[in-house]
Amino acid sequence: MSEVLSSSDPEVFALCRAEERRQAEKIRLIPSENYVSKAVLEASGSVFTNKYSEGYPGKRYYEGQEFVDPLEQLAIDRAKSLFGAAHANVQPYSGSPANLAVYLAFLKPGDKVMGLALPMGGHLTHGWGVSITGKYFTPVQYGVRKDTGRLDYDEIRDLAKKERPALLWAGGTAYSRLWDFETMGAIAREVGARFCADIAHIAGLIAGGVHPSPVAHADVVTTTTHKTLRGPRGGMILCKTEHAQAIDRAVFPGLQGGPHVHNTAALAVALKEAAQPSFKDYAKLVVSNARVLAEALMGKGFDVVSGGTDNHLILIDLTNKKVSGKIAARALDKAGIELNYNSVPYDTRKPFDPSGIRLGSPSVSSRGMGQAEMRQIATWMDRVVGDPTDETAAKVLGEVRELTGKFPAPGISI
Ligand SMILES: *Cc1c(COP(=O)(O)O)cnc(C)c1O
Repeated sequence: MSEVLSSSDPEVFALCRAEERRQAEKIRLIPSENYVSKAVLEASGSVFTNKYSEGYPGKRYYEGQEFVDPLEQLAIDRAKSLFGAAHANVQPYSGSPANLAVYLAFLKPGDKVMGLALPMGGHLTHGWGVSITGKYFTPVQYGVRKDTGRLDYDEIRDLAKKERPALLWAGGTAYSRLWDFETMGAIAREVGARFCADIAHIAGLIAGGVHPSPVAHADVVTTTTHKTLRGPRGGMILCKTEHAQAIDRAVFPGLQGGPHVHNTAALAVALKEAAQPSFKDYAKLVVSNARVLAEALMGKGFDVVSGGTDNHLILIDLTNKKVSGKIAARALDKAGIELNYNSVPYDTRKPFDPSGIRLGSPSVSSRGMGQAEMRQIATWMDRVVGDPTDETAAKVLGEVRELTGKFPAPGISI
């Protein structure tokens, strides 16, 4: 952080510094978070934040676009090339607005939308009741099997045939297994639904070649850019050429005004990084670290939902450990291990005080941690969850600090 900020606004500067320190010192396991590179940070702090650019490259409503146009085109071209997509829109402010654009492009109010239920690992914007997508549209929700913790595509097909939704979503926030996008696409075609794959969590894994891509099977693919893809906060939509106009019109002028061009700049940088061979290594490391961590935790008696993970994410039911997700998450945070409490499928506890915790490997992998560190983290988690007291947390915290000191966090120089 700069000298300028420290003298012009010491309060904000101090909070930024403190957050940098926190991110450097903690073991960050929230699966939707990451560390962007210094280059991404720099681009997102650029003077493009000063610019208004309503419209699209070559067709704007304000003057002065001679550098914005090639910038947005660069981000679009890099997105198309990275994911093998025919069309890309890089303007959505985040993942939720990207999803709303899909509704606006294809649905009328009241139309039926089918997605994975929130408590089963789905996202709010896939038709959950408190979301605008569940209030203005008619939601049908599928789940995971109670016995396996996994999706059952025969059940999904039966439900889709019975309900005949206009839009079918694949994707989730707490599902640790591979998605069969080909089968989801076939189900959508059988019932005459549009198929949208929301890859917010796994975009980086798809770009890195360790998760199958939905691009060939889906009408539209939406994503955030700040999770495993390791870019700035933002959203992005990929689609077939036939839907390009409907999607672009839905984003602007349907939902948004001017795009956040500083984020477009940072996204272009992140997309270039994700196209490097080293990003494939990163994606592999994310998956192998999650698997090793899940296996180590299961070895200590943790009940991992679905019995493991295929991606970056681990969902744990703590019922057998006789501690709630919230108490465990708070104690672990005091020990320097940051994750979130989370509902597990068929949870008998309330969403604000659920039975589970959710964790993942994107951030620790960005620091270059590997299998030995994953086993160490499992040991610390076992100590803290087994005895969620301040004394144990303080002891573990000292050891955590020693480890994080050896693994510099990208983008942070402390
Ligand atoms: C994170 C996420 C979103 C929403 O992204 P925001 O940027 O938080 O609006 C949408 N869908 C899925 C599956 C997500 O995991």
